[in-house]
Amino acid sequence: MANVKLQNVYKYYPGNEVPAVVDFNLEVKDKEFVVFVGPSGCGKSTTLRMIAGLEDISQGTIEIDDVVVNDMEPKDRDIAMVFQNYALYPHMTVYQNIAFALKHKRIIDIKKDKEGNPILDKEGKEIQYKRKYTKAEINEKVMEAAETLEITEYLKRKPKALSGGQRQRVAIGRAIVRKPKAFLMDEPLSNLDAKLRNQMRAEIILLRKRINSTFIYVTHDQVEAMTLGDRIVVMKDGVIQQVGTPNEVFEMPSNLFVAGFIGSPKMNFIDCELEENKGVYSINILGEKLKISAELNQKLLNKGIKAQSIVLGIRPEHIQLNENGSLKANVNITEMMGSQLLVHAVGKNGKDLVISVPNIGIKGELKDTLYNNGEIKFNLQEESIHLFDIENGENLLK
Ligand code: ADP
Repeated sequence: MANVKLQNVYKYYPGNEVPAVVDFNLEVKDKEFVVFVGPSGCGKSTTLRMIAGLEDISQGTIEIDDVVVNDMEPKDRDIAMVFQNYALYPHMTVYQNIAFALKHKRIIDIKKDKEGNPILDKEGKEIQYKRKYTKAEINEKVMEAAETLEITEYLKRKPKALSGGQRQRVAIGRAIVRKPKAFLMDEPLSNLDAKLRNQMRAEIILLRKRINSTFIYVTHDQVEAMTLGDRIVVMKDGVIQQVGTPNEVFEMPSNLFVAGFIGSPKMNFIDCELEENKGVYSINILGEKLKISAELNQKLLNKGIKAQSIVLGIRPEHIQLNENGSLKANVNITEMMGSQLLVHAVGKNGKDLVISVPNIGIKGELKDTLYNNGEIKFNLQEESIHLFDIENGENLLK
């Protein structure tokens, strides 16, 4: 079991005016895969390093399996950390690199006689003692880890004779061989090229299934976060913005920052006016009056939202071209992305808009319009509209 709990955790680096981590609260459950995601400098690594014990905690508590570990040495926390730069020993073979983690580990065993039966003390209890792993035990564990990671054929090589992806697997091997309570991974894939990163991402999903342990994973890449995490923790300026499943964060971002950070291509944000007349809302957008669904109207009523200036958010894939559409814009550029076209358009009021259109079925007049900067008409998929407070960026519907 490994349950990691952070309560009111702060980190102040000496000399820095602003804290790196602010009032961080999170419980990572046993066998859960949690991803910390956010732009560079938002405090992800610092939080991970505090869990590992590599960085002091300025305020608050961190518990592992209900034990406060604030002052516990990293080696006593029984968690393994995998870094971006692998940190392999260059003069050792792959085998030695993986075995190294076990050579100095002390395990508790019970004393046995020559026949292998436990020796008992005066009270009839088994006698425990600390010992190192034997060579045979180390060998068995290294071979098992190598097989899990499919690196058996490279065991005799030195790290410099391996590709980036293979090195990363060795670094993971060194972590899993110790069978720690939890794995902490700090941008483990960011040194790899795009193709290899996709492959290793899939491998981490498989690895996680095989070893079924607790993972806390740090990345600045929202795609990595969305594909790996059971839950993701979106951070900005040391502050948690939202914690949720990838779906929750995608479908109901808590504020403008999360909405803009999660999802690719990015969500469109359009300043507009929310109007209300006798309990019926409408949105004045791109110079047009947009009627809204009865469901959305009811939600706004229930929340007692007043008529106000707002930011409307809509993902590019939730805008539908339609010759009878109520909204209009002029195409600026059309980018061919394979199965999708990304249409950059400018609406009335000079607002930029990106629309993702399935490539299939784009022909004739519509193709002309898209590629020759014509005028397009479209509708917004009503159930996919997000409304944000223009002042503080909060999601008005959450
Ligand atoms: P992330 O992992 O999200 O990129 P970090 O946790 O590395 O962010 O950094 C968070 C903030 O703390 C940044 O402003 C960074 O400059 C600062 N910081 C990180 N490490 C140190 C350090 N050792 N000394 C001083 N400031 C640091």
